Amino acid sequence: MLSAEQYIESLRDVKYKVYLFGELVDNPVDHPIIRPSINAVAKSYELAGEKQHEELMTVKSSLTGKRINRFTHLHQGCEDLINKIKMQRLLGQKTAACFQRCVGFDAFNAVDSVTCEMDHELGTDYHKRFRDFLLQVQEKDLVVDGAMTDPKGDRSLRPHQQADPDLYLRVVDKRSNGIVVRGAKAHQTGALSSHEILVMPTVAMGEEDADYAVSFAVPSDSPGITYIYGRQSCDTRKLEEGTMDVGNCRYGGHECLVVFEDLFVPHERVFMCGEYSFTAALVERFAAYHRQSYGGCKVGVGDVLIGAAALAAEYNGAAKASHVRDKIIEMLHLNETLFACGLACSGQGAPTASGTYLVDMLLANVCKQNVTRFPYEIARLAEDIAGGLMVTMPSEKDFRHPLVGPLLEKYLKGVGDVPTEHRLRVLRLIENLTLGAAAVGYRTESLHGAGSPQAQRIMIQRQGNLEEKKKLARIIAGIEKE
Ligand code: SF4
Ligand code: FE
Repeated sequence: MLSAEQYIESLRDVKYKVYLFGELVDNPVDHPIIRPSINAVAKSYELAGEKQHEELMTVKSSLTGKRINRFTHLHQGCEDLINKIKMQRLLGQKTAACFQRCVGFDAFNAVDSVTCEMDHELGTDYHKRFRDFLLQVQEKDLVVDGAMTDPKGDRSLRPHQQADPDLYLRVVDKRSNGIVVRGAKAHQTGALSSHEILVMPTVAMGEEDADYAVSFAVPSDSPGITYIYGRQSCDTRKLEEGTMDVGNCRYGGHECLVVFEDLFVPHERVFMCGEYSFTAALVERFAAYHRQSYGGCKVGVGDVLIGAAALAAEYNGAAKASHVRDKIIEMLHLNETLFACGLACSGQGAPTASGTYLVDMLLANVCKQNVTRFPYEIARLAEDIAGGLMVTMPSEKDFRHPLVGPLLEKYLKGVGDVPTEHRLRVLRLIENLTLGAAAVGYRTESLHGAGSPQAQRIMIQRQGNLEEKKKLARIIAGIEKE
């Protein structure tokens, strides 16, 4: 396994073609806007090397028997699924950001079971290809970006009906040694923290969309891939001196639009090519795993936000007020409810044909549906407790200024024994989590990440077994015999 430093160094060898603020970035690893998100992924390596986190962060590989980072593992039981959630909560607590490595992790587990079933039914040989790829990932302790979401163009049209056929990623050429693909993946979490990218289809495809039923993995710097970095609220604060105004001193997350312009993929890296009847299973399973994930990562970030709100109350001298205490209790209750959902869908997991365990899909969708709501209420309560100063206070530069600095020190003071700087820092952290760069991960990503709320409602409807419930009612009401 790599250390955090080795991981960061390994990214220097990946020659990403990335644009940020209209310029090609020479050295993404040391770019002040990009680096915090690399630091967040590096935490998954750092904690794996610490004795006290060994059980959660590492596991014995089902493929080789060697100790590996859990983020490269295929779940072998419900305990693995539960440990995944606990690991994600831990990383959320340590980074207060999106640590990105889960998208690849969730993609491995989904592609593993679906390729196995595909081979069984169709006589293809995708599963072995995929396992060979995963072996390399485990051996080299790589980060892989799981890529699912296509731009989708006109949402009322199927992929092949789009005016521009590239709005869904597709196969444009088949050669003797591989395929050529064109298209894009949007909102790609962790694109520039990853060594490889693992592409999957974004919706269930029909026969006419067979060219769009494609899954493969390539190195992140393959010729033909361009990254365009997503802006975040308050992102240019990372270019300023000092650490106060960013709120989160070290960590962040990022997303990119990833464009594939006639990218060649050799056969051994292709895991689906035209088998449209298996696209639904792949999409649903990846989504279910990632909806499970949110019952871990968002809870960990929520822990930091609740802690920050409690500190803000203390620094303001309001911690003992009964309504403040009750608001903190409400935040705790909401956050732990999300954790309970993450644990529940893990504990109710079941094996697939490949031996890899899958979460309970209904409960995973219920988990994510709650994540589209509770973090907003937790954030609202944190803002309530923080007070208006969170959005009206001057900059760190003013705070350090020889003339106005002392005025801020005097007039922004809270309780006597707490340094004014501590009060301001905790308010900036709350700002970061609720309105700033990390709000991408804690709020908007809670809404749209792993699928927008409606996507979960469709799955809840499908998996909710309403007919069975109607039967129960008929029996109890005496309409039908048991
Ligand atoms: Fe992992 Fe959460 Fe980020 Fe998804 S949003 S990659 S689950 S930290
Ligand atoms: Fe996400």
